[in-house]
Amino acid sequence: MSLPNSEPEHPSRIVDRYLSRYNIEPNLGQNFLIDPFPIRTSIQAASDLGLNNDSHVLEIGPGPGVLSVELLRLGSKITAIEISQNACDFLESELNHEGLNLFNEDALSIQWPDTITHVVANIPYGISSPILERIQEHHRSNPLMGISLLVQREFAHRMVMKSIPKDRGPLGIALWLDFECKLISDVPPSSFRPQPDVYSSIVTLRPVSRIELQDVSRKLVRRISSWCFGRRRRKMRTSLRDIPRGILKIGKWSSSDWLRILDNLENEGGNLRGFMDKRPEELTPEQWTSICRIIAR
Ligand code: SAH
Repeated sequence: MSLPNSEPEHPSRIVDRYLSRYNIEPNLGQNFLIDPFPIRTSIQAASDLGLNNDSHVLEIGPGPGVLSVELLRLGSKITAIEISQNACDFLESELNHEGLNLFNEDALSIQWPDTITHVVANIPYGISSPILERIQEHHRSNPLMGISLLVQREFAHRMVMKSIPKDRGPLGIALWLDFECKLISDVPPSSFRPQPDVYSSIVTLRPVSRIELQDVSRKLVRRISSWCFGRRRRKMRTSLRDIPRGILKIGKWSSSDWLRILDNLENEGGNLRGFMDKRPEELTPEQWTSICRIIAR
């Protein structure tokens, strides 16, 4: 593979070489990028979030390394976590570079370095949700500067809450607490080998510090919003009266504490006036955080 200081090689040639040695592992969600455009766009989007030769990038699922080689060209240091032994063998033989620290592991199970500044990844769509949860958790203890991800298009729409109410849900609400998510560009199936059945999108996450939200429990927001969105057609009052699963444990509340909490919510003014008669998709992220603040009070 072309090393950072040599002529760039077309990604489809790198993937060809990979596929002449190994088979696709469909159970690992392998769809490799063969189109230079989304590769350049992802990296440019990360550069707009401060990625440069001082950065330490976490790359999840590098596969044959078409993104990794461009990150190295930029001079960034990479920690790459790749679950496929084949992909790791390939990367080791082709992209032996001191800037690349490769782990043959499951990105969801191993500890990520504290010093990472950015995350860049074309992640397997099956693990987009847990990866994002993990990114958000990591960011809460070790602040990141920017994240650029390739995900399934509908998932991207839910991340950025593109159309209201359709794309409003627990995913977008939880991310909104810590990030400004932005749709950068759509990527057609023809940009990958093998081609996926769906369109993809590049999305960036820019950390935002909403001071007023520092004390709001992300876990509570996630739990309450998932519960209520799981009953999308019901009014908030009905869903909350059913006692969201696992909620009592979060605050060590008894069921009578919960009734008291519901009373407080009913009587709350401000941006929560009348919200019990609404459906979850009608509430703004600000209202969700007010709800959680009152519950935790
Ligand atoms: N980023 C490369 C490969 C994308 S395919 C490209 O854009 O071409 C997704 C990659 O993630 C595959 O290489 C797959 O083996 C890897 N992968 C799947 N599950 C993973 C996990 N849990 N942890 C780390 N890597 C994973």
